[in-house]
Amino acid sequence: MDYLDKLVECQHIESEINKIEEGLRGSDVRKKLLHARNYIVNVQNNYKKTETDLTELHAALEDITHRYEANRSRAEAEGIHYSAADEESDLADVQDMQREAQQISSAFARNEQDLQALIKRLAGIDQEMKKMAANLPKARQDYTRLKAIYDKDLAEVMAKTEPLKKKLAEVQAGIPETLLSRYQEARRHANNPLVPLDGNRCSGCHMELASAGLTKLKNQGIAECENCGRLIFIQN
Ligand SMILES: [Zn+2]
Repeated sequence: MDYLDKLVECQHIESEINKIEEGLRGSDVRKKLLHARNYIVNVQNNYKKTETDLTELHAALEDITHRYEANRSRAEAEGIHYSAADEESDLADVQDMQREAQQISSAFARNEQDLQALIKRLAGIDQEMKKMAANLPKARQDYTRLKAIYDKDLAEVMAKTEPLKKKLAEVQAGIPETLLSRYQEARRHANNPLVPLDGNRCSGCHMELASAGLTKLKNQGIAECENCGRLIFIQN
């Protein structure tokens, strides 16, 4: 079968292309480039999150201020109440005043606690933002430098693969469309979609072919493996 040689050649060229491209896909430069890019994206996301946090903290600060004002008015009113106390005041009045004073005092204390917690969070955010701002220029520099190296590597890879891809297109043009699409379908599942028969087994997955498959293979020169979907051929 003439087409078989062409399919074998397709697979050979494609694996050559793969080998060349794989080197770049798994290269250190690409890993570092992705790392630098992820870092920058991460910082940008953190900035956005920080903005949201700051809006929340601003609202919390306003709330604390309102509570403080309300409490201060309450303390002032209670002060007037105190100065109005005289010999007419009985024990119940004094106990009332004491209770009120205690409530005001603990409200001030809670406010103070909330304010301290807010200051602590703000300090944390400030530190985080300073750290990000300090590291970002270096990350951007790294990214630009690595991108230049990667682009150069990519150009080299393309210079090698382009003639191969051209050759591949030429070979593919000589293969009937139905056969080629069967091959390409098999290629979606395996890097070596075309394998020789080994005894009566598929040499891709080592599964034995059913007798119907073997007959078809002998008649047509090519058959699909029912187990792995590869195209099997008989090697001369
Ligand atoms: Zn198989």
